[in-house]
Amino acid sequence: MRVEEHLRAFEVAGEELVVGGMPLRRLAARAGSTPFFAYSRDLLTERVASVREALGDDVRLGYAVKANPMPAVVQHLAARVDWLDVASAGEMAVALDAGQPAARVAFAGPGKTDAELRQAVAAGVLLEVESAGEVDRLAAVGEALGIRPRLAVRVNPDFVVRGSGMRMGGGPQQFGVDAELVPALLDDIADRDLGLEGFHLFAGSQNLQVDIVMEAQARTVDLLLALADKLDAPVGYLNLGGGLGIPYFPKDEPVDLPHVGAHLRELVQRSVRPAQPTADVVVELGRYLVGEAGVYVTRVVDVKDSRGHTYVVVDGGMHHQLAASGNFGQVVRRNFPVVVGTRVGREPAGETSVVGSLCTPLDLLADRVDLPATEPGDLVVVLQAGAYGLTASPTRFLGHPEPVELLV
Ligand SMILES: *Cc1c(COP(=O)(O)O)cnc(C)c1O
Repeated sequence: MRVEEHLRAFEVAGEELVVGGMPLRRLAARAGSTPFFAYSRDLLTERVASVREALGDDVRLGYAVKANPMPAVVQHLAARVDWLDVASAGEMAVALDAGQPAARVAFAGPGKTDAELRQAVAAGVLLEVESAGEVDRLAAVGEALGIRPRLAVRVNPDFVVRGSGMRMGGGPQQFGVDAELVPALLDDIADRDLGLEGFHLFAGSQNLQVDIVMEAQARTVDLLLALADKLDAPVGYLNLGGGLGIPYFPKDEPVDLPHVGAHLRELVQRSVRPAQPTADVVVELGRYLVGEAGVYVTRVVDVKDSRGHTYVVVDGGMHHQLAASGNFGQVVRRNFPVVVGTRVGREPAGETSVVGSLCTPLDLLADRVDLPATEPGDLVVVLQAGAYGLTASPTRFLGHPEPVELLV
């Protein structure tokens, strides 16, 4: 997607980008300092509504808190989704503080410590177990507390989903129990005082290829239904994962959400419901819900020419927005959409690189992009910055202050 297409999600007042109803300079004044992150309530609300419309009434929507754990964002989403997925005791606390009922908080992740298991069992959340050893520890924690733990088995599939930005299932994995080992584990769980509710499978992240997402959903349903069939009672929880990506780079195209949704609805009607009439069928999405609702706003500190090349130096950088610098899982560095938010619509003045304030060549926010002529004081904005931004960045690197985050 081209930068101009990304900009269509926003209003523009004069030459200023408008976020959350406020022109950018005023928003910066409100924030009190640059750099800052701003997340739009309206864009979050609209995105959830379109996902719900696509999924229909029979598929539950989960939000994976790790994509953006800002408490106000989590609270906004908690009121609009069915489940919250957390991956640490810290995220669990944010989810519960946001008012999410513990009954619909699911806790995944390898290496949950005994202390985290204890907190989660006491809270009453659903634990997605990742290994036989974790089942042992969970049973011991439940016994010590006198509370029956709620759990689902996270399955490491016997298939691989191609086209994911990050693969988290198939082959050897730290995530989930290998599918072929699950039946024996189910016997083991049945012998303990553990409340098994169902299964979870998350095969990968940031997938823009709809056919592959749909194929993965079908194979996930087949596998989880076959495992659920080994149990005496119907299951209450079937989490099919998610993995829908968002367009970051020029060649990326957005997924056809209605198409994926229709396919999933049909799959649930045709395959899941006859076998499992009452299970909560859950799709868990992180970046797809929040990524496009957020911007990272920096101020131009310096504009310099070096041997024919223009550098715009801003007061932010990779310590807040690592992914835009190309250092968060990308193999080939490509540019996030970056605009001068105080000169929207101006003619490009030539190839420019936007660099952050850190003293390392890694701190490159945009490499040779067409930007209008820019002066110190202008605000440069990284779009698609609502997910895996601040909390997925090395904030202490170089010792700059942390940025403000606003939900507007
Ligand atoms: C990270 C993660 C997600 C969210 O991934 P996105 O790419 O942000 O949608 C969902 N489920 C699990 C288990 C995860 O670890």
